[in-house]
Amino acid sequence: MEQIIKKPANIIPRPNLRDYDDALETFKWESAYDQVEWFDGKLNAAYNAVDRHAKSHRRDKVALYWQGVDRNEKYTFFEMSRLSNRFANVLTDLGIEKHDRVFIFLPRVPETYISFLGILKTGAIAGTMFSAFGPEGLYDRLHNSGARYLITNSSLKERVYQIKDDLVDLERLIIVDCDDGVGVADDEVSYTEAMKNASETFDTVQMLPDDPAFMLYTSGTTGKPKGVVHRHLAIVQQHVTTKWVLDLHEDDIYWCTADPGWVTGISYGLLGPFSCGASVVVYDGRFDPEVWYSVIEKYQVNVWYSAPTAFRLLAQAPDAHKSHDLSSLRHICSVGEPLNSEIVHWGVRTFGLPIHDNFWQTETGGILIANYPSLPIKPGWMGKPIPGIKAAIVDDSGCEVARGVEGNLALVADFPSLMLTIWKNSAKYREYFSGGWYFTGDRAVQHEDGYFLFIGRADDVINTSGERVGPFEVESALIEHPAIVEAGVIGKPDALRGEIIKAFVVLAPGYEPSDELTSDVKRFVKTRLAGHAYPREFEIVDTLPKTRSGKIVRRMLRAKELGLPIGDVSTLEE
Ligand code: ATP
Ligand code: MG
Repeated sequence: MEQIIKKPANIIPRPNLRDYDDALETFKWESAYDQVEWFDGKLNAAYNAVDRHAKSHRRDKVALYWQGVDRNEKYTFFEMSRLSNRFANVLTDLGIEKHDRVFIFLPRVPETYISFLGILKTGAIAGTMFSAFGPEGLYDRLHNSGARYLITNSSLKERVYQIKDDLVDLERLIIVDCDDGVGVADDEVSYTEAMKNASETFDTVQMLPDDPAFMLYTSGTTGKPKGVVHRHLAIVQQHVTTKWVLDLHEDDIYWCTADPGWVTGISYGLLGPFSCGASVVVYDGRFDPEVWYSVIEKYQVNVWYSAPTAFRLLAQAPDAHKSHDLSSLRHICSVGEPLNSEIVHWGVRTFGLPIHDNFWQTETGGILIANYPSLPIKPGWMGKPIPGIKAAIVDDSGCEVARGVEGNLALVADFPSLMLTIWKNSAKYREYFSGGWYFTGDRAVQHEDGYFLFIGRADDVINTSGERVGPFEVESALIEHPAIVEAGVIGKPDALRGEIIKAFVVLAPGYEPSDELTSDVKRFVKTRLAGHAYPREFEIVDTLPKTRSGKIVRRMLRAKELGLPIGDVSTLEE
């Protein structure tokens, strides 16, 4: 298997995780507990994210560089600590108590980060919702969580009012963008007013390690989103994995492109990097290659965490990076979907840096499997387990299978950031566990050398002529063709073969559908795939159905192809 050997060590700082094999053998989570601050057996994730730095040499260090469309702001750790204290006081004055749910429905504005931390400080449970959700998506989440307060803005609140009468638990809305209370209705709270009147000191509530801290709904790729609840102890894993996988060093400027409405935007857009005392860049604006590269250039971003869908879109603008100085970049990571090896190579060609894939889930709260700076990258492979994580490939009865054999990707269920529960659905929660294993619902293979290869979500794996084929393998082969930028592959029932493989492909700019092109693509993939993995049917489409977090939704391709109901669409792009 081809491996990419990275830049010589003299031009990059020594990785935080230098000896992977040693750590794998010796590391215990308990030994990392003292990397965060405790109050006599209790802790608070928000205290660890900002307050402890506000009391240290990092007091005046910038914690948050916020880039809006036409203005920018910055906040030091001291300021973040004080502002979140004020917000904690606002909530306490409103009667919020430990374990109440307080939700945030905002774009990526500084108030999102401040209020999230403030909620945690009160001991309440913070929830975030992506700002593109419509009334139905909002209703599901606010109803299920029983949120008492919602922080939003004057334009987004209109969507909430369409459903508010049906939300018996939702008491009031806190509106962030109405200066001096102008434009705030009588039963709403003006964030600006309330913050002005609140004290900037607050006794952060000391929580037990297993007390809930925040809840987030999954991406809805395979069905109805689940309300995953995470505990304060998760900060330990978020802290350690940020250091090891994202490799943040003291002077690094770090940009995570994920929205705080999804778990990456919380675990690695906020808690993990702040806990490590890093300066975090937040860009609140639409995707545009030129603008993205200008963010890296302007803030001199060193470490960049994004997703395959974003990298694939950037690769479609092959010259956009040329007019920007991106030499600050040192380390790039990707999560959310399988990272095609073609994209890893594109990273090398474009930035002189490979992209490091890593794998985890909303339910696991933190990274599980990764390619590390200190190890060679295997393009197309997810990497090796985090020290402290036992990952394995098991059959349906929980027995480990031999290396090289496909099976269920499972984990020993004893790491700090594993979910506490699924909100109001303990039956669903229990379904994840069997025989001491946590089942991810994903299928994978572990190679002799320890690296894991993603095959597909259990629901997406295709059974054709008695062979199992993961859509990722076929999609990766397709996008290596210069005319194809994205591909979604499904199994279609077939009397003879059980299922046949059908590929939906999106063409690169400048290519038009033609019989010639189709034949050329077919020839091309035939040379790259085993006979049984070759797609019998091709369809050229303008776009693929995706979640708002950028994941290809194959269940939707299947439903459309077979004329079946499409199920939950709250997280899908328009
Ligand atoms: P839902 O559970 O609601 O169907 P979802 O599984 O997409 O949605 P998330 O928790 O956001 O919700 O995503 C986790 C899933 O994303 C993983 O289970 C896996 O299928 C996929 N994934 C994440 N990272 C990677 C990766 N590096 N390689 C392959 N797949 C990945
Ligand atoms: Mg899932």
